Amino acid sequence: MFKSLLFLFIIIFSSQTKLIAQQKSTYIKAGFLYDSKNNVLLKNKLIQIQGKKIVSIGEFKSLPKNSEVIDLTAYTVLPGLIDAHTHVLFSQEANEDFAEHSIHSLTMESDALRVLRGSKRAKSYLEEGITSIKDIGNSGLYLDVALRDAINEGTIEGPRIFASGPILAANGGQVYGVLPKHQDIIDLEYRIITSPEDGKNAVREHVNQNVDIIKICADNIPNKTYLTINEIKSIVSTAHFYNLKVTAHCVTNQSAWNAIEAGVDGIEHGFNMADSTLVKMAEKQIFLVPTENSKSYMYTYAKLANYNEDELEWIDDYFDRMKKRLQSAINKGVPIVAGSDNYTDIKVSRGKSSKDMFRYYLEAGMKPLDILQSSTYISAFQLGKENEIGCIKPAANADIIAVKGDVMNDFISTIENVVFVMKDGEIYTNKTD
Ligand SMILES: [Zn+2]
Repeated sequence: MFKSLLFLFIIIFSSQTKLIAQQKSTYIKAGFLYDSKNNVLLKNKLIQIQGKKIVSIGEFKSLPKNSEVIDLTAYTVLPGLIDAHTHVLFSQEANEDFAEHSIHSLTMESDALRVLRGSKRAKSYLEEGITSIKDIGNSGLYLDVALRDAINEGTIEGPRIFASGPILAANGGQVYGVLPKHQDIIDLEYRIITSPEDGKNAVREHVNQNVDIIKICADNIPNKTYLTINEIKSIVSTAHFYNLKVTAHCVTNQSAWNAIEAGVDGIEHGFNMADSTLVKMAEKQIFLVPTENSKSYMYTYAKLANYNEDELEWIDDYFDRMKKRLQSAINKGVPIVAGSDNYTDIKVSRGKSSKDMFRYYLEAGMKPLDILQSSTYISAFQLGKENEIGCIKPAANADIIAVKGDVMNDFISTIENVVFVMKDGEIYTNKTD
């Protein structure tokens, strides 16, 4: 009896070691490799990949004979990019009103149609080398979670999604002008919080639906309602108990201050923050996702929205203010995380449209490598995922892209020229010569 068991054990054990030995390595020869943690470009590095993971980083000379090689010596190799602020289940025309479009979508677009449309938008990120997105709300009742699961199980192709589920907000959410008797429509898009205790319940509901992150609206501008500090505190402590980060949409300085007091991990937008608020963010190392656009994007938008072409001087002023705001946050030491928040149809794919954030950050004075770090390592670190994504190092996921051009001196056309995309060890794009 004992002998036969031992025999069986040996068979199982030896077949398992055989399986491990059979898993072949693939090697990438990178002309330049971006080390996102140290924010430097390294020359001529060899990346070893096994299955979905990166195994080692070495020199070209350590390449074993007869191994499978992807030659990216003519390119710069980067970790898959991360867009930390997306809404793939939402799209409106430039001339459409947000509230009216939301009501239209909630009452006349079925969940099935909404997810199918969203899946196409999600896939377009992958094509642009954005292998992870933080999709934070305006996505119906957990349609973002469904999309994430469909991608993870291989039913459809798309980026890695970190899904928030419905945004936690005070009465009315961000959809303004809805009559009292139709407020139940809002419950299809936002989780309305009525007390600190309810905030706790809302987080638990979200945990039960397997969200990856909690998004709140600290204010609901142009609706006048906002969450109280005690409500946000209750949301944050419950979310942290379940190991989830909390990020807060803030338009006003007061709501950002409230959110920071209550212990959130990040601020989205932060359009009107006072210096004292930024100082506090830097002290607590709370991240900021500045969701702005380049000048050329704003002109495209204005045209699509049928704004009067003779009255566009405000764009320059607006841009100058945005630039100052970003510089002020950077100078004070606030961690900057790159996010697009592009949900308007500007007649290119969503992924392409979202890449405008790179142009904005550059125009606003950030250096190319700092922009890359904000869209890789810092973004991953602030999610608590820096060992898995946003960096090319042993044991991380094999999310690897290559761009053609000079990252340092010709950043925009280089970051737009993605020639190779790998996610989880699988190649999605290979346009190398
Ligand atoms: Zn947004």
